[in-house]
Amino acid sequence: MKILVLNCGSSSVKYQLFDMADETVLARGLVERIGIPGSVLTHRPTGKNKLVREAEITDHKAAVRLCLEALTDQQHGVIKDYSEIGAVGHRIVHGGDFCDSVLITQETKAIISDLVKLAPLHNGPGLRGIEACEAILPATPQVAVFDTAFHQSMPPHAYTYSLPYELCQRHHIRRYGFHGTSHKYVALRAANLVDKPLAELKVITCHLGNGSSITAVKNGRSWDTSMGFTPLAGLTMGTRCGDIDPAIVTFLMEKEGYTPADMDRLMNRQSGVLGVSGVSSDFRDIEAAMAEGNERARLAWDIFVHTAKKYIGAYVAVLNGLDVLVFTAGLGENSPEAREAICRDMDYLGIKIDPGENRVRGQEKEITAPGARVRTFVIPTNEELMIARETMAFVQAG
Ligand code: ADP
Repeated sequence: MKILVLNCGSSSVKYQLFDMADETVLARGLVERIGIPGSVLTHRPTGKNKLVREAEITDHKAAVRLCLEALTDQQHGVIKDYSEIGAVGHRIVHGGDFCDSVLITQETKAIISDLVKLAPLHNGPGLRGIEACEAILPATPQVAVFDTAFHQSMPPHAYTYSLPYELCQRHHIRRYGFHGTSHKYVALRAANLVDKPLAELKVITCHLGNGSSITAVKNGRSWDTSMGFTPLAGLTMGTRCGDIDPAIVTFLMEKEGYTPADMDRLMNRQSGVLGVSGVSSDFRDIEAAMAEGNERARLAWDIFVHTAKKYIGAYVAVLNGLDVLVFTAGLGENSPEAREAICRDMDYLGIKIDPGENRVRGQEKEITAPGARVRTFVIPTNEELMIARETMAFVQAG
C-alpha cells in the first residue's frame, strides 16, 4: 500500500509518499510560501530529477493539489493516478485527550477543530490539509497522527499542574507534551537496536532541535516529558525560554506594561538561546561564536546543557534507573559537542560516551563508552515514517 504523509504548517506543506511494502520513500517534497508572493513547490522523486514549480498558491487546498499533480506528473511522478494512494496520514500537533491516532470522520474532525483553540498556529493548518484532501481525494481514508498522543500515557501526577483543580479542568490545562511521534519512533528503534522489547526497558529520549524536549519512557509508555501545556515549557530552546519562574511573567507585565500578546512573543520568539546570547537561535552560530570567545554565546550554551542534564537526572530518578539514552533531531543528531557536554560527568548515573564513536553526525550509531552501564545512541528521527506506519495500521485494521 502507498501512504501519503502530509505535514501542514501555516505557510507550508511538507509531504512524503511511502511504499509500505518495504517502507521506501517514493517521493518527498515541500510547498513553501502559501498565500505569500513567491510560492514554490519543490518535488523530489526517488531516482528521478527534482521538479521545481513556481505558481500562485493561495491556500492549502491549492498546495495539496499541486503536490498530487507532482506525484502523478508524467516526467517527475511516481504514481499513475490518485487511486494508488491507499490512505493519507496527517501530522496534527495537538490531539488533546486522544491517546492514539484517529480515523478522520465528521466527529473526529470536529474535535480537532475544537482543539485549534489550544494550538492555533499548528492545528489550524493541519485541519486545512485534512479538508483539502477530503475535497480532492474524497474516497481515500485519512488518519490524524498527533504529537501529543504518545504522552497521554503519563500518570496524573506527571501531567497535573498545581493550580486550582476545577480551573484546570474547565480550561483543559494539563501537561500534554509534544514531539511524541519522534520520541516514540526513536524509543522503538532503540529497543530494536538493543534487541529487547521496549516494555522491558527504561529509556530517556532527547529530541534536541530548534524546539527541544526530553521524555522518560517506562514500560513502553511515555512517563513524563519536559514540554507542557504548550511547547514553551522545559528546556531552553532556540527562541523559547523553557522553564522559568512563572512569577516573572506577571512581574514583567507590570514593570514593562506588556500585554499577553507581548509576553507570548517575548517568551516564544525572543528568548532561549537567541535571547541570552543576542547572537542567534541556531546552535551552529552559537558554537561558532563560542569558538571566537563570545561569552554570552557560551552562557546560552551552558544554560542549554545544564537544563538538559537536569531533565536527564530527574528522569533517571523517576524511572528508578536507565537502560538506554537516545539523542535525536537537528542538534541531537548533528552536534557531537552538545552530546559530549550533556553526557560529561554523568558516570554516576552510568552514562559515559566514547569520544571517537561520538564524532558521528546525522547517522544511527551507538556511542556508548566501553563498560558504561547505560547504552547511548544517536538515532535520526523519522516522524514521517512513524505517521505512515500508524496510518497503515489503522487502514489495515479496517
Ligand atoms: P526543528 O525543531 O525546527 O524541527 P531541527 O530538529 O531541524 O529543528 O533542528 C534544527 C537545529 O539543529 C538548528 O537550529 C541547529 O541549531 C541544529 N543543528 C543542525 N545541524 C547542526 C550541526 N551540524 N551542528 C550543530 N547544530 C546543528
